[in-house]
Amino acid sequence: GESISVQEYAKLLGIEATDVIKKLIGLGVMATLNNEIDAETAQILGAEYGVETKIKEPEKPEELEDIEDKPEELIERPPVVTVMGHVDHGKTSLLDAIREENVTATEAGGITQHIGAYQAQINGRKITFLDTPGHEAFTAMRARGAQATDIAILVVAADDGVMPQTVEAINHAKAAGVPVIVAINKIDKPDSNPDRVKQELTEHGLVSEDWGGETICVPVSAIRKEGLDTLLEMVLLVAEMQEIKANPDRPARGIVIEAELDKGRGPVATMLVLKGTLKVGQPLVAGSIFGKVRAMMDYKGRRIKSAGPSVPVEVLGLSDVPNAGDVFQVMDEKKARAVAGEIQTVKREEELRRSGKISLDELFNSM
Ligand code: GDP
Ligand code: MG
Repeated sequence: GESISVQEYAKLLGIEATDVIKKLIGLGVMATLNNEIDAETAQILGAEYGVETKIKEPEKPEELEDIEDKPEELIERPPVVTVMGHVDHGKTSLLDAIREENVTATEAGGITQHIGAYQAQINGRKITFLDTPGHEAFTAMRARGAQATDIAILVVAADDGVMPQTVEAINHAKAAGVPVIVAINKIDKPDSNPDRVKQELTEHGLVSEDWGGETICVPVSAIRKEGLDTLLEMVLLVAEMQEIKANPDRPARGIVIEAELDKGRGPVATMLVLKGTLKVGQPLVAGSIFGKVRAMMDYKGRRIKSAGPSVPVEVLGLSDVPNAGDVFQVMDEKKARAVAGEIQTVKREEELRRSGKISLDELFNSM
């Protein structure tokens, strides 16, 4: 941050510097011409002179600046899919069903690992699912300016229809410009009514294809594992109509899906690589946390050495636990440490301000 000297302050207000010094002494602050005035003192001074003092927000450090990729460097990557919808409409069941059906188990008896994302396979092609249903994760990521979702699957229970969180999800996807595929779930239920769901969706701008619109609606039953392949094929179809590409040959950048402190292993984060390739041994910044990748595991718990675009990985070697939704970026170690420190300072200042205290080196403006 910055501050202002007594001299500058006096000039700004068009008064004698000696007068400012007298006032300061009156306030119990010993000052000379070149002394800096902190924000709190400036506010008190301002009150004395009858001027309003505005505290200027400290400038944010360049938050994990991105590298620009050339169009010819971009190649296709798997689409990243988020599942959204009203509570109890079957988001978790659907994610579980897809995982059980379309994630090939490892030799050693199935998938033991459960990290915050996985990759399903259909017709030899991969789809990355963020295994954190609900729009909270989605919103957190958007707030951090990271678009980690290419396609949203909107789950609507056929026996319940469009509900408040369904509408919320539609609005989130719309705001993010993310295409929506509707999974009309629970079609096994006797009181299910897919047509009613389609009718209700039209009221929110989603008109089913078979009703002359552009929204793909797939009837599914997560419980009976019906319609899942069709749903995944539709995901790939929608993916083809978009430019889902990334440059794999650059320092990795992506997003933290979830993170926790593991007793034995220390900070553990599930990260989704969006661009570039993340490699063991590389230094990075995740949110405001410095790290150096000590080991990486894929969603099946296998140790891997590198992870390209759209690949979710569990990462060990962070110095602390980052937040879900934080952006991470690989950079050289010296810079990574400096950037992490800088961002932490700004965060601390923000916290202080929120708690009503003002840090010393904040910049202020008068009048
Ligand atoms: P979420 O809150 O959206 O994650 O919903 P859940 O996956 O937890 O499912 C809510 C309830 O609906 C659970 O009792 C599920 O067993 C049930 N459920 C989910 N999918 C289906 C389905 O396809 N058919 C039926 N009959 N029940 C389902
Ligand atoms: Mg759930």
